[in-house]
Amino acid sequence: MTKQDKRKFYIGGEWVDPVEPSNLEVINPATEKSVATISLGSVDDINLAVEAARRAFETYSATSKSDRLDLLQNILNIYKKRYDEMAEIISLELGAPISMSQKSQAACGVGHLEGFLAAFEKLELRQRLDNGDTLIREPIGVCGLITPWNWPVNQIALKVLPALAVGCTCVLKPSELTPLSAILYAEILHEAGVPKGVFNLVNGEGPVAGAALSRHPNVDMMSFTGSTRAGIAVTKDAADSVKKVTLELGGKSPNILFADADVEKAVKRGIFGCFYNSGQSCNAPTRMLVERPIYEKVLEIAKITGESQQVGDPAEPGRHIGPVVSELQFDRIQALITAGIEQGATLLVGGSGNPPGYETGFYVRPTIFCDVSNDMRIAREEIFGPVLSIIPFEDEDEAVRIANDTPYGLAAYVETGDDEKAERVAAKLRAGQVYINGTECAYGSPFGGYKTSGLGREGGLFGLEDFLEIKAVSRP
Ligand code: NAD
Repeated sequence: MTKQDKRKFYIGGEWVDPVEPSNLEVINPATEKSVATISLGSVDDINLAVEAARRAFETYSATSKSDRLDLLQNILNIYKKRYDEMAEIISLELGAPISMSQKSQAACGVGHLEGFLAAFEKLELRQRLDNGDTLIREPIGVCGLITPWNWPVNQIALKVLPALAVGCTCVLKPSELTPLSAILYAEILHEAGVPKGVFNLVNGEGPVAGAALSRHPNVDMMSFTGSTRAGIAVTKDAADSVKKVTLELGGKSPNILFADADVEKAVKRGIFGCFYNSGQSCNAPTRMLVERPIYEKVLEIAKITGESQQVGDPAEPGRHIGPVVSELQFDRIQALITAGIEQGATLLVGGSGNPPGYETGFYVRPTIFCDVSNDMRIAREEIFGPVLSIIPFEDEDEAVRIANDTPYGLAAYVETGDDEKAERVAAKLRAGQVYINGTECAYGSPFGGYKTSGLGREGGLFGLEDFLEIKAVSRP
């Protein structure tokens, strides 16, 4: 594929040059070669984008609900037309295997849109309260949207679509590691007829373009997904202008395997779930908590299953996992694998370095540690690579205690044959989503975290509400 020139930003409905040229190469993580050049935006570029969004807000916020429902439907149609292109571009910039990119990564752009359409149709923007006053839901204003690289379109869809649905305008600053899917998304919105200035895209680095957006006095709300570190920076930057901030941050999700579970199935889905997307999912089940009577059996199954995980070229179809996104992420993962070994965890599968035959590209060996104690770094820190920690527990109380003993609270998984136990444990888990026996929450359900996993919820009705102001009107 020839290298692409993607140095323009999308501002006010047009593709424009940056105020000052400053380039960054987009690296294919499988080959370590550049596939495109983008521009890094400055404070001036962000200012222009915010001005365009502010101007557009005047008219767009006054459009009718039915007009905006039609617009979302148009976006859905154009997105479906360019679906394969989206799957390919995500595979290229992120290293997601093409089969997975088609089945899951690109699919999020459709699933979330359908979830928002269904929720927005039902949402009452004007309502009479029991006390006689009127409640009006209004768009919050100009929204700054900052997204990560691990599920690039998933995150863009979860922010751009609710903003557009309720009548907000926005400036998107996607991850500098995966800007190509965001550029394609901008083309889709343009083709779907999103009015000028309603959606704007500026590429750039977090501490420059991202911070300029968070600090901008004319931005009314920041919606951020990424690391807890950057989420805190966004919150502090937004504080001076008293903006609403929603955050979707990291996780270290427990996967509790009780002795009465379907052990073979539970271990397999736990491991493949952890390794999916090369371990780069905020809700990945990265701590497998195992009830003592089945511990040895689980380790036997885990060894065979872990060793069966293939690694391979993202361009090839199949069920393998690809590389991780960047050299920096590769190095972070290696440091944590070393920490696991040094702190005394037992290496069951994998280990440091590249898998044999994959010296080029940021490929990590699928790795499983057992005999992990919950105070080790590999049990506390988000590794964001295909690395699983297995931790034994004695009884239900201890399982819940270990599960909740984390600064995070994004997701939790429970495997048991006892429905009452599943409900009881789910109620005690301090996490935004609980998945029982391998089920997943559907599009339209709220997604977000307790504790340092975030603030606010994305998707469906709750995702729309985050982009709304509430006004109470009373009259004689
Ligand atoms: P990051 O948080 O630095 O990047 C995410 C987004 O935030 C990018 O668009 C980035 O440009 C922007 N950003 C960074 N610093 C910023 C700042 N000061 N102000 C405004 N925006 C800023 O993520 P990373 O460094 O690429 O990854 C580090 C860790 O973050 C990973 O190991 C993982 O633990 C976590 N992470 C979590 C998610 C998630 O979905 N929860 C996604 C990506 C990364």
